[in-house]
Amino acid sequence: MTTTHQYSDCSFCGGTVKEEHTDLDYRYRGNLYIFQNVPAGVCQQCGEKYLTADVAKRIEQKIKTNERWEKTIPVPVEDFSEVSFV
Ligand SMILES: [Zn+2]
Repeated sequence: MTTTHQYSDCSFCGGTVKEEHTDLDYRYRGNLYIFQNVPAGVCQQCGEKYLTADVAKRIEQKIKTNERWEKTIPVPVEDFSEVSFV
């Protein structure tokens, strides 16, 4: 993408949001997807990520069309209510 989107300040901490290519965890209908090198606004202070409507649409389109994926990785899961804090 050549156009740089102008992001407003972070709605969590008020920090500056700059466009970067970043890895993104995306949850859709209970599944977790990881997109790499996504152009997104990243808060320079707290790291919160912001997607433009266009990028979010392309991500959901990719998930819905169910094409081949680059790769699938196992993701470790832990239920915190099962962990005893001693
Ligand atoms: Zn922030």
